[in-house]
Amino acid sequence: MTRTDSTGQIHDSFDHDHLWHPYTSTHDPLPTFKVDHASGAIITLADGTELIDGMSSWWCVIHGYNHPVLNQAAKNQIDRMSHVMFGGLTHQPAIDLGKLLLSILPPSMNHIFYADSGSVATEIAMKMAVQAIDDPPHTNFATIRSGYHGDTWNAMSVCDPVTGMHGAFGTSLPIRHFAPAPQCRFGEEWDPADYEPMRIMLAENADTIAGVILEPIVQGAGGMRFYHPQYLRELRKQCDDLGLILIFDEIATGFGRTGKMFACEYSGVEPDIMLIGKSLTGGFMTFSAVATTAAIADRISSSRAGVMMHGPTFMGNPLACAVAIASTELLVNSSWKNRIQEIEAIMKERLAEAATLPCTADVRVLGAIGVIELKNEVDLAPFQQMCVEEGVWIRPFGRNAYIMPPYMAITDEQLHSLCDALLKIIKRLYC
Ligand SMILES: *Cc1c(COP(=O)(O)O)cnc(C)c1O
Repeated sequence: MTRTDSTGQIHDSFDHDHLWHPYTSTHDPLPTFKVDHASGAIITLADGTELIDGMSSWWCVIHGYNHPVLNQAAKNQIDRMSHVMFGGLTHQPAIDLGKLLLSILPPSMNHIFYADSGSVATEIAMKMAVQAIDDPPHTNFATIRSGYHGDTWNAMSVCDPVTGMHGAFGTSLPIRHFAPAPQCRFGEEWDPADYEPMRIMLAENADTIAGVILEPIVQGAGGMRFYHPQYLRELRKQCDDLGLILIFDEIATGFGRTGKMFACEYSGVEPDIMLIGKSLTGGFMTFSAVATTAAIADRISSSRAGVMMHGPTFMGNPLACAVAIASTELLVNSSWKNRIQEIEAIMKERLAEAATLPCTADVRVLGAIGVIELKNEVDLAPFQQMCVEEGVWIRPFGRNAYIMPPYMAITDEQLHSLCDALLKIIKRLYC
């Protein structure tokens, strides 16, 4: 595995001068590192440097890179057809994936809408809720602070108003109802007062709110927070009482990441609408899905419009469906639960040391998510440079330095190396 590209340069000047990367300025963009290839839990840069991946490429590459089973599924499908329109046509990969998903999603899920990305899934879920409660119309939404639901307009509107993108877009975003983020932590004691702000907010606005959208148990890109399952039980009960639609965004938490197939299983609560994405294809392709109950599907179909008002060009893309089937089968036929428990145990033991450091505010681990929350914001450029020097790939955001490794690919030894490097970098740069 020493093949490198023709130049062997890890920083590319065309890229620097002309390509936009996520959330970057063109004036002084953060350095980017050119990847030549990746396999298993290893990302290899253009100069041959090998990095142990602690990010799963934003949490989606759960089986590791270049997985032979997923590669083969894509190859088989591409020789039949890579795409065909979903309007008026269907195909076996869409049908087989639907059956497979309904066998692992919460039992009340009955209808599936395939979409292109996580953000689009959020848009669709919100459209479903508005269409399902249209007489009289309810058009607004409630959520909790510290959430993240994507980069499109309505998704942005339910992201955390401070750490999200509200500031840049001001009054062009619809104004939503925000309750404080739950304070009772996962695995600790429940305090009924934690739910009260949401209870009051929903009761006061139930005549205009269509639904509540939130990430169950684990809030990801809005703060890497793990909260108490009782919050979701209270919310389910109140949504039922008020006739509001409950939307769970499991785009980050789905497919085992938290130790359950879906994080909502920790609470025993089922949503009315559920979003999945990211690791749905094992991180091979952009793809997502919105699942809902027979009752919501019926209400949408009985609404004034009479149909679900959405239908993107690449809906149900056969290539994405074929890879999603392969990825999901690989997962369900493995001992994923044991492996994630082992990973959780290693991270709990190894990252505990960070709690004693003067620069850290908190350390928390759930499933294959290990977070070291620092007291101050991380300066990305020196952090990432040190990562590359240490042979790991970790990309913090805000005050959170975290690892979310490709849990079906990473070895114990690689995981220890990730923990070693993370602790070393934090000590060197911040403590
Ligand atoms: C990543 C993410 C999204 C957005 O998905 P994209 O594919 O980036 O559009 C939405 N919700 C959650 C919880 C996510 O983690």
